[in-house]
Amino acid sequence: MPRPQDQQNEQNTKQNTMWAWHDAMKVRRVINVSGTMTGLGASVLSRDVQTAMAQAGASFVDMHALQARASAGIARLTGAEAGFLTASASAGISLAIAGCMTGLDAARAEALPADPGAKSHVVIQAGHLCHYGAPVETAIRLTGASPRAIGQSTHVMDHQLAGALCEHTAAALYVASHHVVHYGQIPLKRFVDMCHRADVPVIVDAASEYDLTGFLAAGADLVIYSAHKFLGGPTGGIVAGRREAVRAAYLQNIAIGRGMKIGKESIAGAIAAIQAWQTRDHRADYQAYGRTLRTWQAALQDLAGIKTTLVDDPTGNPLQRLQVNINPTQAGATAAEFAQALADQDPAVIVRAHEIDLGYFQLDPCNLLLGQETLVTDTLGRVLGDPKSVRKDDDMPSRLRNKAVDSYLRWQGHTEAKTPATG
Ligand SMILES: *Cc1c(COP(=O)(O)O)cnc(C)c1O
Repeated sequence: MPRPQDQQNEQNTKQNTMWAWHDAMKVRRVINVSGTMTGLGASVLSRDVQTAMAQAGASFVDMHALQARASAGIARLTGAEAGFLTASASAGISLAIAGCMTGLDAARAEALPADPGAKSHVVIQAGHLCHYGAPVETAIRLTGASPRAIGQSTHVMDHQLAGALCEHTAAALYVASHHVVHYGQIPLKRFVDMCHRADVPVIVDAASEYDLTGFLAAGADLVIYSAHKFLGGPTGGIVAGRREAVRAAYLQNIAIGRGMKIGKESIAGAIAAIQAWQTRDHRADYQAYGRTLRTWQAALQDLAGIKTTLVDDPTGNPLQRLQVNINPTQAGATAAEFAQALADQDPAVIVRAHEIDLGYFQLDPCNLLLGQETLVTDTLGRVLGDPKSVRKDDDMPSRLRNKAVDSYLRWQGHTEAKTPATG
C-alpha cells in the first residue's frame, strides 16, 4: 500500500500540477518538513480517502448507523469495545470528560457547562498541562469541569495523586505527547491503577501517538486520537474505549458536542484512513523516510557550524527526524534565523522548530510529497550555505515562539500585531 502522499504526488507529478491548486487559490506554496500541523492543513489525503469522502458527500445516511460503522473500525484498530468520531481530538477530550461527568443522563448532559454537577474535577499531572495549539486546560473547562493539577511541572508524586482523587473527581486525564514533560511524571500504568482504586476513570490524550492499542491495554477507560495526524485522514477526532464510557461521551452531541460535530464525509474518510493504516507497509515507509533523511544529512555535512544527527521521536513513535544543530558563530546565523529564512523561500520550507531556542531545528520526512525531497535538499543547501543573505534578528526565537498566536492576531488586520516584549 503506497503512502497517501506518494499516491497524491504520483497524481500531481503526472499532471505536472504540484502547485496548481496553490496557484489557483493564490496561496503560498508550502513544503511541510515540520510534522502534522494544524496551521499547515494537517494531512494530505490518499485517493481512497478522497473517494470515500466524495461518495459520502453525495449521499444521505443515518448518521448513527455511520458512526456504528466507524465504531467497528475503531474497535478493530485499537482493541476498544467501541468508538466514535468527532470534530477533532481536542473536541474528543471535552466529550470524553463530559461523558465521565454525566454518564448516560441526558438531562445532566444538557445542563453542561453551566451546571457541572457534583463530579466536576479533572485531575491532571502538572507536567501534562500542555499547549497543542490551545491549552489542554481549555478542553477541560469547556465542559464546566475544572482541572486539578497535581505536583509541579517536573515532579509529581503518588501521594499528590492519591490526595487529589475524591468524590468530586469526574476523571483523570493523562497526556501522551512530545508537548509534555517527559520525566518526573507518574507513568500510565501506575496512574491507572491508583485512579481505578479510587473508582475514577482515566482518559488518555494520545492525539499524535502511533501506539493505537497500548493505552487501552494499560487500562485506560477512554483514549483519544486525531484522525488527521499520522493516520492521514480528514480532520477529526477518535474517541475509543469502554463501551459505556464511549456511549456517555457520544451522548454529549445533544449539547456541548453540537459545536464540535463532524460531517458524514469526514466520518467516511476516517473509516477509509483507518482501513488504509491497517494495510500499509509501515516498514517500507520507515525505510523510505530514512533514505530521505540521509540524503539531507549528506547535503549538509560540509557546511561550517552545522551538525546533523538522526534523532528518535521523543514519545517512541516509530520515526526519526534529522536534527540540525547550528553554531551561530561558525554558521553565520542562528537556528531561528535559518528556520525563518527557509520559511521565506518559494516554496516555503517549514521546519520543525518547537525547540528552536535550544539552537536547533528538525526535519520531519513524514509529510513530504513525491518530488519534494530534492526541492528541500536544494533549498537547505542554498539557504544554510549562504548565511549572508539571511536576515539577522535577535528576536527571532521569540517571534517563532509567539507565532501561533500572532498569526491569528495579524489575520485580516491592518497593522502588524505587536509581539509582546518578553521577560
Ligand atoms: C494535536 C494534539 C491535540 C489536538 O488535536 P486536534 O485533533 O488537532 O484537535 C491534542 N493533544 C495532543 C497531545 C496533540 O498532539
